[in-house]
Formats: sequence, structure tokens, C-alpha cells
Amino acid sequence: MSLLVATTNPHKLDELRAIFAPLGITAVGLDSLGKSLPEPYEDGSTFEENAAKKALSYAFLSGQVCLADDSGLEVEALKGEPGVHSAYWAGRGNTRAERDAANNLRLTAEMDGIVGAARAARYVCCICVGSPDGRIVATSRGEMAGRVTTGAARGKHGFGYDPLIELGDGRTVAELSEAEKNAISHRSAAARAIAPKLAEILRGG
Ligand code: IMP
Repeated sequence: MSLLVATTNPHKLDELRAIFAPLGITAVGLDSLGKSLPEPYEDGSTFEENAAKKALSYAFLSGQVCLADDSGLEVEALKGEPGVHSAYWAGRGNTRAERDAANNLRLTAEMDGIVGAARAARYVCCICVGSPDGRIVATSRGEMAGRVTTGAARGKHGFGYDPLIELGDGRTVAELSEAEKNAISHRSAAARAIAPKLAEILRGG
């Protein structure tokens, strides 16, 4: 069974492939369509809205069942920001690396002087599966809890805010190996939660 995933990000695709493969589901990215489809504008006020919009848009345009996700970081002291604005919080820089660096500078600046429980943060991922007839046929949500470090940015793995987000054992998410992160990430939690339902849908159930 093949499943279209609304991404061109090879890391995301690999992570989902590994989770879905044991269920006999082969995840394929948008590149597999051999043509570029117009990207929906992610202007929802929740992760759910954005994931649903992407799933329905690509399901309609491709004529296939399509899985889409939306994710981001919610910080206690910032009342849930950057949230759905995570990717472009500090502006629309040219490359992902430039945007990540600017976002991390902004996060460090905004957290200056904030102590204790207010530094709590969590990554959230919502997954929606859309069908070509315009229905959302499955949804799931995963979270990974941590805190914004008071120390310097640390670690060279991962992406985005990972060098600033510290887990219970004192390591930042960027200090985890790829396999360690995949085992506990918000994205893998959401994918694991939806996997059985997905297998049922693709089997025609
Ligand atoms: P997207 O869902 O891939 O579009 O991610 C949205 C944004 O949320 C990213 O650009 C990052 O800024 C942030 N984000 C989502 N997941 C992670 C993660 O696992 N680590 C670090 N940042 C993340």
C-alpha cells in the first residue's frame, strides 16, 4: 500500500517511512508525483487547521489519499507562541538555516529574565489524512515536552529550535542522535497514533 505524504522534506519522509513500513505502508513524497502542485497557504490559527488544509488540497489535486502534518513549538511564558508561526517567527529569511538561526536568536531574547516553570515548552505535531472527495478521514496529535535552556545553544543534530530545547536528562534535542529523537518526537508520536487507522483506510476499511 502506498501513501502520499505532503512533504518534500527527505528527513520527514524517512521518519514516517520507518514508522509505517511494518504495517505494509510505503510512504512516498510529493516528488513522486513527477509534477509540482501549487502549495496551499498555511494561514490557519491552529496546527490542526493547517494540516487539514494541506491534506485536503494535495488529496484533491493528486486524486490520492494524502497525509499532511503541521508542527511547531509552544512556549509557556510566550502564551503558546511561536506556535503556528514557528517556521517564520523571526522573518522570511532565504534559507531554512537562516530562518532557524534568526528564530533561535529571537527565542533567546524573548526568554531573557524568565525563570522556572515559565520556561516550559513543548513541540506539537498534528497529522491529518485527507481523501480526494474532500473529507478528513483521520487525525492525530503528538507532543514532546521540554524547556527553553538557560544555557547556550547546544548540539548539532536536528533542526529548528532543537539546540535551545532541553529535555529531562539535561541534553538539548539537538544533542540527541536521529534515532533517539525519532523514538520520542512529537512527529513520531502523532504518526504512531495514526498508523493503525491509516492501514485500515488504505485497505479500504
Ligand atoms: P513544519 O511542520 O515542518 O512546517 O515545521 C514548522 C516549524 O516548527 C519548523 O520550521 C521549526 O521551526 C519548528 N519545528 C517543528 N518540529 C520541530 C522539531 O522537531 N525540531 C525543531 N523545530 C521544529
